[in-house]
Amino acid sequence: MTVLEVIQKSAEFLARKDVDSPRLQTELLLAHLLKLPRMKLYLNFDRTLSDTELDAVRELVKRRGQREPLQHIVGSTSFCGLEMAVNRNVLVPRPETELLAEAGWDFLNSRGSSRHEEAQTQPAKIDQSLLTSAATALDFGTGSGCIAIALAVKCPGARVVALDASADALAMARQNAGRNGVSERLEFFHGDGFAALPSGFRFDLLISNPPYIPSAEIATLQTEVRDFDPHGALDGGPDGLDFYRLLAGRAGEWLRPGGKIMLEFGDGQAAAIRKFFAAPGWSVEAVRADYTQRDRILIARWH
Ligand code: GLN
Repeated sequence: MTVLEVIQKSAEFLARKDVDSPRLQTELLLAHLLKLPRMKLYLNFDRTLSDTELDAVRELVKRRGQREPLQHIVGSTSFCGLEMAVNRNVLVPRPETELLAEAGWDFLNSRGSSRHEEAQTQPAKIDQSLLTSAATALDFGTGSGCIAIALAVKCPGARVVALDASADALAMARQNAGRNGVSERLEFFHGDGFAALPSGFRFDLLISNPPYIPSAEIATLQTEVRDFDPHGALDGGPDGLDFYRLLAGRAGEWLRPGGKIMLEFGDGQAAAIRKFFAAPGWSVEAVRADYTQRDRILIARWH
């Protein structure tokens, strides 16, 4: 069979299994197997696949047909142009979360340079810890580490702390930090909520894509999400809002004056979350939409 024939047959198979974008998914699997960029497949349509290659494609296509996510099958995904390994212990990073990370690094970089200027012009006003540590960020519930790692890569002067309740997720995040060359600038803590953080820490930015699916809705999610993403990364409690309540109540204690919180949230949750952040100490600066024009990100300032 030729590359083109395999693509056509496999795409039909995946379509029958209700997989979204079956042709694209097939091409990505085949490109992975043949170690070619996807576009190169088009130059190889007439190439005949060996029996070994055919067996291997069938196996991959079968797994995708059982609704295993493409990212799990190929073992990684791209986040903000960085390669992140993923497995069943971490939520597969989504494109909308790239917008959150981008808002985070814009702020951290501006914060780092304004602190630097202040230190130059008014050294007496700045306490020593601020001089030695540049801008600092906390990724609350880091999972694969994608946000923390993107911040470390895009903000070379920043120090980034990443927290997760899952030791298995942290193992993946550490691996991803190494893969992207930022292990030295990231610190990992294992624990539920803020309990694991040393009490003196203060951050310029607390950033998080917390679990936000209402518990009862998890059963209704796409198979790829429901059966393969860890439920600990999805389940936001009865109304999906547990983590926003916690963060609106507690995050201020961990922020420096003028620090910000940036949070991803789910469909229809904006109004409820704005209310939590109407609490004293916070001012909501922005609610931003994702690529599909749905409100997705809240940015609030602490005092
Ligand atoms: N964005 C994920 C989804 O749509 C949910 C991730 C989360 O709960 N933070 O499945």
